[in-house]
Amino acid sequence: MNCEKSIKAFQKAQVVIPGGVDSPVRAFKSVGGTPLFIKKGKGAYLVDIDGNKYVDFVQSWGPLIFGHADKTIEKAVIKAVKNGLSFGAPTKVETKLASLICSMFEGMDKVRFVSSGTEAVMSAIRLARGYTNRDDIVKFEGCYHGHSDSLLVQAGSGAVTFGTPSSPGVPSDLTKHTLLAKYNDIKSVKKCFQNSKNIACVIIEPIAGNMGFVPADAKFLEELRALCDKHGALLIFDEVMSGFRASLKGAQGVYETKPDLVTFGKVIGGGMPVGAFGGWAEIMDKLSPDGPVYQAGTLSGNPVAMSAGLASLEKLIAHEGLHVELEVKAKRLVEGLKSAALAEGIALQVGAIGSMFGFFFNDKPVKNFDDALTSNTKLFAAFHQGMLKEGFYFACSQFETGFISSVMSDEMIDETIEAAAKVFKEIK
Ligand SMILES: *Cc1c(COP(=O)(O)O)cnc(C)c1O
Repeated sequence: MNCEKSIKAFQKAQVVIPGGVDSPVRAFKSVGGTPLFIKKGKGAYLVDIDGNKYVDFVQSWGPLIFGHADKTIEKAVIKAVKNGLSFGAPTKVETKLASLICSMFEGMDKVRFVSSGTEAVMSAIRLARGYTNRDDIVKFEGCYHGHSDSLLVQAGSGAVTFGTPSSPGVPSDLTKHTLLAKYNDIKSVKKCFQNSKNIACVIIEPIAGNMGFVPADAKFLEELRALCDKHGALLIFDEVMSGFRASLKGAQGVYETKPDLVTFGKVIGGGMPVGAFGGWAEIMDKLSPDGPVYQAGTLSGNPVAMSAGLASLEKLIAHEGLHVELEVKAKRLVEGLKSAALAEGIALQVGAIGSMFGFFFNDKPVKNFDDALTSNTKLFAAFHQGMLKEGFYFACSQFETGFISSVMSDEMIDETIEAAAKVFKEIK
């Protein structure tokens, strides 16, 4: 594999952009090698600037459920662009997309659009605090909710503690209201409620995708709902990744549990920068301008981004059964990877829901962040490099989730498994 042009481009980028990237995970730090600079994407494939072609299981970290350069979305974007890029005034397409989203989810009376998942979660947390008049929040170790200050809290050592910031630049005064609990462990949440009478909300990725792929137990979510109700705290589902991915209704199509607020991102913009948060009218009406909780955005509800999101969601709704098809493919992939690994004596823990999938180099099941951290990241790095050479682009960390798109064929999946079998043999 020749990556000369990417290597040169990365050197140039590092001079003027910190680390050469605009989001740290792109830098390939945990797997080694140089990040590939992308020239274009088409369907299931990515092409880098050296002309290498890869089957893409990253899909821009989730948004591209129809693959690259989908014609329907492309057409909607071009049509919108011709009328102007942004007005900072209402457009009808915002109401159209909001109506569509509200019609899909029980308890989603109103929704507000922002420009990223980070913004969606940050705003939902502020709203939860404003609505309940409480300051503390509970988050789970290993769940990622964007990079806003109060959510950038390191997973502790398993003990339930008040959070300490995971980044310099975040004053501990800003994270002292963030309590940490353990994923899939209701006792750890009960402890938080014992320690604080001031909890505004519990936020969770109901299908965690940012510590690797770790779904919540159905019973755990039910107990979480009951605990929140008992203590008058809101339950927020962060579905920035799982929304429209795990099923058409995200985690709400997989579990019975209903949240009070939901955050969206990724698929909701079809590849454009869109985030959203929504829920009961009683809560959402606390937002400015009707209510006292301030939240705003110059480019929020941008007509081009909204058009991409609308085209993407309408296409998803029109394709009935799509998520079932994608789940069959995702399972075909992870089961194939698992047997190929096993044939070389490598243990893989695998899982898939809808178009999301994951695999851990681990001989024990992974239920939480501590479990995930016991995975063999060296083996993962070797796997990642080997698969790139074979033309398969996986997320460059053991602690990420993979995605199937609608344009991936069974043949591509089988080729991936064949290549993986070869790579497992080399790296065992
Ligand atoms: C990606 C992600 C975010 C952050 O979204 P950005 O658009 O990157 O700001 C928040 N929560 C979850 C669950 C995510 O997967």
